[in-house]
Amino acid sequence: MNIPSKSQPESGELGNVPRPDGQDKSLNREYTEQMIPGAAGAAVGPAVESLSCSAALDGGHPPHAMAGGPQWLRKSGAVRTREHFSRQILQHRLLLSEIRRGTKKPLLVMKFGGTSLGDAGRMEKVAEIVRDASRDNNVVVVVSAMAGVTNKLIEAARGAESGNHELVSAIFDELNRKHKAVADLLTRSPEDQNSIQQIMEGILRSGHQLCQGTLLLRELTVRALDSIAGLGERLSAPLVATTLGVHGVASTAIDATELIVTDSFHGSAEPQMDPTRRRCEARLLPLLQNGIVPVVTGYIGSTPEGVVTTLGRGGSDYSATILAAALGADEVIIWTDVDGVLTADPRLVPGARTIPEISYREAAELAFFGAKVLHPKTLRPVMHGQIPVCIRNTFAPERLGTKITSSGSSNGSGAKALTAISDIALITIGGPGIVGVPEVLGRTFTTTARVQADVLLVSQCSSQNDICFAVPSPHAERTVQALRFEFAQDFAHEEAEHIALDPSVAIVAVVGEKMRRTPGIVGRTLSALGRQDVNIIAIAQGSSECNVSFLVQKEDMQTALRTIHREFQLGASHCEVVPAKSA
Ligand code: ADP
Ligand code: ASP
Ligand code: MG
Repeated sequence: MNIPSKSQPESGELGNVPRPDGQDKSLNREYTEQMIPGAAGAAVGPAVESLSCSAALDGGHPPHAMAGGPQWLRKSGAVRTREHFSRQILQHRLLLSEIRRGTKKPLLVMKFGGTSLGDAGRMEKVAEIVRDASRDNNVVVVVSAMAGVTNKLIEAARGAESGNHELVSAIFDELNRKHKAVADLLTRSPEDQNSIQQIMEGILRSGHQLCQGTLLLRELTVRALDSIAGLGERLSAPLVATTLGVHGVASTAIDATELIVTDSFHGSAEPQMDPTRRRCEARLLPLLQNGIVPVVTGYIGSTPEGVVTTLGRGGSDYSATILAAALGADEVIIWTDVDGVLTADPRLVPGARTIPEISYREAAELAFFGAKVLHPKTLRPVMHGQIPVCIRNTFAPERLGTKITSSGSSNGSGAKALTAISDIALITIGGPGIVGVPEVLGRTFTTTARVQADVLLVSQCSSQNDICFAVPSPHAERTVQALRFEFAQDFAHEEAEHIALDPSVAIVAVVGEKMRRTPGIVGRTLSALGRQDVNIIAIAQGSSECNVSFLVQKEDMQTALRTIHREFQLGASHCEVVPAKSA
């Protein structure tokens, strides 16, 4: 690994890295006083630097010290966020007026995904989009890591856990080369090049050190994994800020660990909106008032104690709406590699069409049931404040994309879009011995809650006393183990296995708020699937009728999607239906 060394604070020396004197004002570097926590929870990394391309900037903003609850005390995300987000409505107008005291421009939060930042050319395109928007708006930019970088970082962390020195070094070398090549193409002067190179090397060095700690211990803690996985955004934010500077837009890279306060649920942290709002106000409003575009790292936040957390894979969408809610923004634009929210995943259904307008509810259902275009929690922070979210294509910015609002707009059929999740498993509790088991349902779902398994679909057939439910594959094994433990006494004298796991299934969901007033949606779907020889294993429809979900075999998933898409004429033109079975 060829990353030059630089003086490091000792392990355990948390924060308070002094801002260096003698900054280069033309490429104004500032130190954000953040430390990356080490494998065992101690801080071992250097200060994360953020890069500014503006002349006048404020200083670093240390994290507030606040009491935080331990992970096991965490309430369910839905309860906590509703409680927090409802208070945001009261502050919404106040914040807006504060932002606008210095300027009458609307406030936009623009998030750019990994593909949009895939190489230097794409970063230039991003800079043009931001430059154009910033003429008439105040803009906060949120960035993902460059495409593929988070995967590589996680691979390095896992490689370190299994003792693979070579893999770790090879990945950090590769990441260094990749980012350096982009920086060389984007910067104009040797000083700028040198400056951003130093920043990126510092970030990569800290990641390499975390992996060295993991290699020594042969243990990958959830804290260390989050710190390593979040480095991609820390690399891309200074690159984007630099590119904006080159395009004449005053900007500064900001580490979201300074802004987004979360609980300590590593890998899927939840924001704490009150402290987040206070930090955003203190840190971002002065920049916006001075016409500076903050470029904030997506995906990461930090606990009140300053430990880095991540919001879950694809979490930069969520970062954008958290910041929008905290600032009372007028609009969020999620720039990605497709034209908007489509009637189905275009990789699975070639005839999928862009939906011009969709409701928060529908978009949230699609996101929850696997539409990768949005992180499942993206809409939570903005729904109460009714901040519209647009999904647009970075590579075709002239297209309007999809607008997500509280009302959405209806289409004729009631069914609006389809989605599917294949990375799930079906757990069944059933068999003859279950009849006499007390409180089967209650105990089953108390157990799933205890092991924090997301239950995506539930179906019960009372005559058989069978309960089946689907969970994401990564949650399946621990759920089954916990259930076997829970019911061990009840089934002690039974020979048959009562708790079964089937990983060969997928969920296909039909989404649309207007389905509730349209009879026959389920009937048409079942008939169409029957004609294509697709067997339905289970079906679930909530009383809200915004979503009807079917369990099918994984191998039938694509046929099911194409068949339903055609049945409801969701595409611009009819798509071909591939027969379910080759016979
Ligand atoms: P980004 O890197 O910009 O965050 P993602 O890869 O996370 O982008 O999400 C965009 C991808 O989501 C698209 O390329 C598309 O393949 C996939 N996708 C899945 N379902 C849908 C859908 N209903 N509408 C649009 N895109 C979808
Ligand atoms: N870079 C993170 C990921 O790959 C977050 C994101 O892209 O939104 O999951
Ligand atoms: Mg994404």
